[in-house]
Amino acid sequence: MGAPQLISIDEARERVLAEVRPLDTERVPPALGRILAEPAVAREDLPPFDASAMDGFAVPAGEASVLRIEGESRAGAPSSSPLAPGTACRISTGAVIPEGTHAVVPIERTEERDGGVVVPATETGANIRRAGEDVRAGETVIAAGSEIGPAEVAVLASLGMPAVLCARVPRLAIVATGDELVEPGVDLAPGQIRNSNVYGLAAQADRARATVVMREQVADDFEETRDALARALAADVVCVSGGVSVGPHDHVKPALAQLGVDERFWGVRLQPGKPTWFGTTREGTLVFGLPGNPVSAMVTFHLFARPAVRALQGADPGIEPAIARLGEPLRRNPKRDQMVRVRLEQGEDGWIARPTKAQGSHVLTSMLGADALARVRAGEGDIAAGERIDIELL
Ligand code: AMP
Ligand code: MG
Repeated sequence: MGAPQLISIDEARERVLAEVRPLDTERVPPALGRILAEPAVAREDLPPFDASAMDGFAVPAGEASVLRIEGESRAGAPSSSPLAPGTACRISTGAVIPEGTHAVVPIERTEERDGGVVVPATETGANIRRAGEDVRAGETVIAAGSEIGPAEVAVLASLGMPAVLCARVPRLAIVATGDELVEPGVDLAPGQIRNSNVYGLAAQADRARATVVMREQVADDFEETRDALARALAADVVCVSGGVSVGPHDHVKPALAQLGVDERFWGVRLQPGKPTWFGTTREGTLVFGLPGNPVSAMVTFHLFARPAVRALQGADPGIEPAIARLGEPLRRNPKRDQMVRVRLEQGEDGWIARPTKAQGSHVLTSMLGADALARVRAGEGDIAAGERIDIELL
């Protein structure tokens, strides 16, 4: 087996995304985090009719005048007749503009006198919201591949779309390997540590909006590992933690090989996360062998599995970096890009990134308070404070 042939982070991501086959779709009520599988095309204008923007009076002409008050147009109860010359119609916000209206005069700018109303001069169309001003029937309002957030939920409701076509939510299985692992509620025997990866990865999967269908812990035993992985392969995405190196107790790679999972890469020029493994089944299941070290597991999930979960649903993988300036110098690694856990502060011209604390693939608390991963590219020496650096928001 030997040592892995390391590839770059970008190459690894390309290889992952190249294997993604979009999931099938279903028609569902718009829900947070779902990805639209087809564009939302308006079937009607929004607003659907010319409407008043104010409470006041609909008036037939532009000059200052005294008008007889006739009729009322209320929200949900339009006035039945057009506006006659010399009259004004009481109108409320959101009510239909009567035919023959020149403008709406806000109530504060009028004065009622003996059944009449005194109105000032007005500009044509003042305080009238035109039909279709926001959206025209036939217009694409939300593109396919968009994630549904609160704004999309509201817009789809306003356009009369109680259900939309979305990609199925990816099913994700988590298998943690390691004889040393015990659950958080258990006292530690000598040499044991708690299985934090299953918890962290499940939470990351949740946030990436995959459904966690399996979370299991296995001993460093070939058969046990293989049998758990065989069950996990029924999911769309499998994340295995640990056991992916070449030690005598690392069974993940041989187990996956026996199960017919084809290796697409093993080893990335990345710190933390060098021994990351990726493979696929003929059925299209994406299998991530994530390093056991807790920070490495979280960082590699974010870099490789999360974009895949998005791409499976037809969404943009979300890997475009943002830019920050370093708040303090950072030492480069000569061979590998580092993903440094940073806190972001608002500087004078954008974000300033500072490491959360000492970095190390076992220093799990370096993830606490981290807003982003800053990519310190491989090289010699330091990157100076104040230099621009790519960041990926967490
Ligand atoms: P491995 O990749 O199996 O060689 O594990 C690398 C390091 O990560 C070791 O120190 C393991 O004890 C630790 N580790 C492996 N799995 C987990 C886990 N599920 N939770 C926390 N730490 C782990
Ligand atoms: Mg292990």
